[in-house]
Amino acid sequence: MRSLRWALLGASDIAATRMIPAIESTGGRAVTVLSGSPGHAEAFATSQAIERATTDLGAALEGVDAAYISSHNPKHAEQAQAALEAGVHVLCEKPITLDLGQAVDLIALADSRGLVFGVNHHLPCSAVIRKLAALVHEGTIGTVTGIRINHAVFLPERLRGWRIEDVPGAGVILDITVHDAAVLGLLRDAPPATAAAQVARQGPWPKGAPDAVMTTLRWTDEVLAQTHDAFTVPFNSSSVDVYGSEGTLHATDALTQDPVGDLTLRDEAGVRAVDVGNREDLYVVSVRDFTAAVEGTGAVAVTGMAGTQAVAVALAVQEAAETGRTVDVVDVRGLLSPAR
Ligand code: NDP
Repeated sequence: MRSLRWALLGASDIAATRMIPAIESTGGRAVTVLSGSPGHAEAFATSQAIERATTDLGAALEGVDAAYISSHNPKHAEQAQAALEAGVHVLCEKPITLDLGQAVDLIALADSRGLVFGVNHHLPCSAVIRKLAALVHEGTIGTVTGIRINHAVFLPERLRGWRIEDVPGAGVILDITVHDAAVLGLLRDAPPATAAAQVARQGPWPKGAPDAVMTTLRWTDEVLAQTHDAFTVPFNSSSVDVYGSEGTLHATDALTQDPVGDLTLRDEAGVRAVDVGNREDLYVVSVRDFTAAVEGTGAVAVTGMAGTQAVAVALAVQEAAETGRTVDVVDVRGLLSPAR
């Protein structure tokens, strides 16, 4: 596998805790880190043994093959555009942007330059979630009628910064519901048509962005989904249940950053555990798939289109919660011009 030289755009917790180890395990190397704060860039580079620290985006992109973008959410699009214009492949954190047209333009830009543009949703890289999706598509549970996602967690103290403040790109919907949307994108061939939602501010911190949300989604083929996402639930077991005419699949404890969780099938024959195969580190899978796409030997785990559709669902949920109305979900395939 090709040894990629990476720029880290954003000196973030996720870069340090998950992505640098994943990059290194695939033979790649983070050679430069960009931060808005010179002191933070230097400290991050020193602690992670990265050669170059900079506050200059252009300088960060010099001499690299790929950029991993994990800055604050509103900065993702501008940094992705700069990287693609510099001829650098991009693996961008979710949400790609807060504007769907901008996301589609980034996809078109990557295509026009022959560059890889992937989104770092980790759950589609989970062995449990991949197996769940494969069984649904093989028809193991017949015709799907409903999906329930329980993704209520407790926000660790070290992450109680911008996520819970009243700033653009913050809140539980753009942080967690967007991940649910990526999972739903694997389970269904089309996006939901409509979203309804209610939010709350429950956490033991100053009230800012919503930190809990319950959502219902509806597809044109009468399938319903329900999600519960929160930063405020300390003792919980996450789950994805998919209900079908011939059975139900339960994925438990799989909505996490670690390669854990179980899958159970309940049908006429009873209840049994499903073997999900090799449980690899989710972020290693993401980086390895991305690297294979750069080499031309594989495909990214989550495409720009899939990541954009996940944002479209999240934005519809956000609007539904703000207005109290049921909101149409944009099908982002309709935003692509024929040339794209
Ligand atoms: P952090 O809060 O750790 O970092 C985000 C930005 O905050 C950094 O890029 C940096 O800005 C600034 N920052 C952080 N620490 C300092 C500091 N000590 N001094 C000055 N500035 C600082 O974010 P997260 O790692 O929690 O999230 C980053 C991105 O990754 C988000 O887009 C998030 O949605 C995504 N994410 C994805 C996950 C996944 O599993 N796919 C999991 C967690 C996060 P600057 O850019 O200026 O350096």
